[in-house]
Amino acid sequence: MTNQQPARVRFAPSPTGYLHLGGLRTALFNWLYARHTGGQFILRIEDTDQNRYNPESLDDIMRGLRWLGLDWDEGPDIGGPYGPYVQTERQALYHDYIDKLIASGHAYKCYVTSEELDAMREEQRAKGQPMGYDRRHRWLSDEQRAELEATGRSHVVRFAAPLEGVTRVHDLIRGDIEIESASILDPVLIKSDGIPTYHFANVIDDHFMEITHILRADEWISSAPLHKQLYDAFGWEMPALAHLPVILDPSGKGKMSKRKKIVDGKEYLALTHEFIEAGYLPDAMFNFLTNVGWNFDPEREIFARAEAIERFNDISSINPKPAALPYDKLEWLNGVYIRALSTTELHQQLIPFLAKQLDLDEAELAHSETLSELVPHIQERLKLLTDAAPFIDWAFQTADQITYPDPNAFIGRKMDAAGTVAVLEAGITLIEGLSAFTVTALEKAFRDKSEAMQVKVGPFLTPFRVALTGKTVAPPLFESMVAIGREETLTRLRNGLRVLKSYAATPVPTA
Ligand code: GLU
Repeated sequence: MTNQQPARVRFAPSPTGYLHLGGLRTALFNWLYARHTGGQFILRIEDTDQNRYNPESLDDIMRGLRWLGLDWDEGPDIGGPYGPYVQTERQALYHDYIDKLIASGHAYKCYVTSEELDAMREEQRAKGQPMGYDRRHRWLSDEQRAELEATGRSHVVRFAAPLEGVTRVHDLIRGDIEIESASILDPVLIKSDGIPTYHFANVIDDHFMEITHILRADEWISSAPLHKQLYDAFGWEMPALAHLPVILDPSGKGKMSKRKKIVDGKEYLALTHEFIEAGYLPDAMFNFLTNVGWNFDPEREIFARAEAIERFNDISSINPKPAALPYDKLEWLNGVYIRALSTTELHQQLIPFLAKQLDLDEAELAHSETLSELVPHIQERLKLLTDAAPFIDWAFQTADQITYPDPNAFIGRKMDAAGTVAVLEAGITLIEGLSAFTVTALEKAFRDKSEAMQVKVGPFLTPFRVALTGKTVAPPLFESMVAIGREETLTRLRNGLRVLKSYAATPVPTA
């Protein structure tokens, strides 16, 4: 048990695109801390940038969080005592509080037009002066303001940032961050359309939602001093703050990108839905991401969620260094978690993937005995759930849909076409005569026959595997036969035999 105060933490994505792995890791660390302290994990949607709004984004974000098992205690879909949880629905609050800031002299209306701003920048550039807003409307008199209003100009509201001293913010992972207060050049808090900027809405919401700890992406470090100044202007205490380490791309050199996901000419996965579709298990991803920038235990790779929650007790133990994403390890972990599933669970997990990849019906797959027969025999070999389809597609095709490779594939080591025809014919007769069509019976009969025909078991079985599946690599042969049944097995073996015979009958071209 923890002796820490229950934390109120939030994941505050902007619905501008799909949830990427960095965002998912941010959400995970917040969730772990909320669960560790017995507090709340809040989902808040920061949609003040309406130009970049993407209507598919919110669903994608929620789906990704649910997939990983990160349940939220308050959020746009379930509400909660501090709602609404979507910023555009909280406008009245922002307007009240911007009025308060204006009244206390910590914010002011600025009527500068975009042309004037361009001209100002041009001049700064020409004179080699530092770039940025020069506070020209900060000290307007009432008359000047009235005059500007009268021209019908629109205005933004800017922060009247402190002009002296230093602003210091403490980051639980990185220590103190300090800047000259005056280096913050009166940023916009309310845009000309009345919508707040990220900074203003974010501070107001974190305060009113009683957030205790902010754990967010490192890209917001430079905004932290401004946020601190805003808290100070209101006379509020700032929540504890931590900026999580950057996630690197697979080369370990660049930052992981949401858009351009190419390293060494190869595209890598970066979006949560891409990992879902590729067939990763949530448990494997949970384990993997927990160790991206933090470490559960250098001695232990595999752990349960409850153990991670228990140990996630100290935000300052997060590593500030950029974190690599070892994709090989993720694949390996996925294999481990796939093998840890019961066969019934694996059957369940495979259904949507097989349905999609092989164009099959989910309800039929749920009851498919063929699939239940095969699952235990492929479990060991899967790294991804999508690996199953190419391995067992033959079992869901009809005999005439099987395409046979080069007939040479039928012929095992040290065998020839005629010998292979004899072996296949013998096997067909065996199967026709078996009283019980079971793995044990098949195994015994085939073993005895291969001995009698003086052919090693490996090459003896090769033509059967190819005739049955159209492949040289497939799940164990007798189990595969049983999975599709005796009649279907015989049909395929006869088809294979026909292919092989026509090949054997073709005269070998003379060089
Ligand atoms: N809306 C911001 C984002 O999407 C949230 C930053 C924060 O957590 O303060 O990254």
